[in-house]
Amino acid sequence: RPMGYAIVGLGGYGLGVIIPQFANCVHSRLAAVVSGDAAKAKRVAAKHGLPDRSIYSYANFDRIRDNPDVDIVYVCLPNAMHAEYTIRAARAGKHVLCEKPMAVSVAECEAMIAACKRADRRLMIGYRCHFEPFNRAAMRLARRGAAGRVRYVRSEHGFVQGDPRAWRLKKAMAGGGSLMDMGVYSLQAARYMTGEEPVAVTARESTDRRDPRFAEVEDMIEWTLEFPSGALAGCQSMYSAGQNRILLMGDRGRIELEPATRYTGNRLWTGEDGREREITPPPGPGKTQFAGQLDHLARCAMTGSEPIVSGEEGLRDLRIIEAIYRSAREGRTIRLV
Ligand code: NAD
Repeated sequence: RPMGYAIVGLGGYGLGVIIPQFANCVHSRLAAVVSGDAAKAKRVAAKHGLPDRSIYSYANFDRIRDNPDVDIVYVCLPNAMHAEYTIRAARAGKHVLCEKPMAVSVAECEAMIAACKRADRRLMIGYRCHFEPFNRAAMRLARRGAAGRVRYVRSEHGFVQGDPRAWRLKKAMAGGGSLMDMGVYSLQAARYMTGEEPVAVTARESTDRRDPRFAEVEDMIEWTLEFPSGALAGCQSMYSAGQNRILLMGDRGRIELEPATRYTGNRLWTGEDGREREITPPPGPGKTQFAGQLDHLARCAMTGSEPIVSGEEGLRDLRIIEAIYRSAREGRTIRLV
């Protein structure tokens, strides 16, 4: 039977984006909802034909242990709640899909990995670009040397964050500013386009602290990663302008995505200056990147295999994120190995 997912957090992403995607899945189905808003949970459950016993609050969430319909818990909560709900889900004997960023610290990531290991459950991070056809094609092209030897990656991600009251702008809930949101896409892209792990990072932040949105967290942050091959990645994220692009420069050409990591409508080019070619990749692995992601963890849960974007992958990013913040704070290059 398809694996049953419990969605924790019925917000913009959990309710607005993920729940409708079960219709595109082969190995996954919606089995429960977890919400602080009982009326909303009841409404969503009724719409999707879930029985009342498959509705949970944050207080009685641990009872999910006794629900055999639920195989996987998908944590779609604010960043600072990821660790707690991942660990509680693992203790309840469930596999976990946790949204990005994996957590707000390296220590939390390590505790999440340990909890899932102890419970012998799979842990995957919501890095949907690994299931997105344009990003997958760009990774394949880069690995195949379509642009030659990789010398430079540029990755910029941002959107305009308008509401100063949003949890994304509260340090305690978000763990940081734009880096903890769209910055994760820039960082991921630098790693999956080079196929290497960075050895050093140098970062600089620019935030107008008089802007009421940025009393607690950064607006713009820019960082350079150095890779063992000598390649560099210039990455950036911001909350005061919209941007979404990835560029790889090799010694024989370029691979370019813009928009790069949107839900739909991404575009990909490859070639040398003046001789660029737009590429339409084959679809898949799922009907959509979201369905591909949900079904991937479902298959891993069925077969016992490790997800391609595991907890360890999320932890690697948090280690670099902590070093980015430290570099910006201390005004020096931080070595990562
Ligand atoms: P959101 O604010 O729309 O939803 C958050 C949900 O958590 C809401 O239902 C809210 O009621 C609930 N919640 C419970 N306790 C809360 C508290 N103390 N404070 C605030 N909210 C509380 O946020 P979202 O956009 O759905 O983001 C949720 C997670 O998903 C974040 O970690 C975010 O980074 C991630 N996300 C990922 C993608 C992606 O493309 N992979 C896209 C959007 C969001």
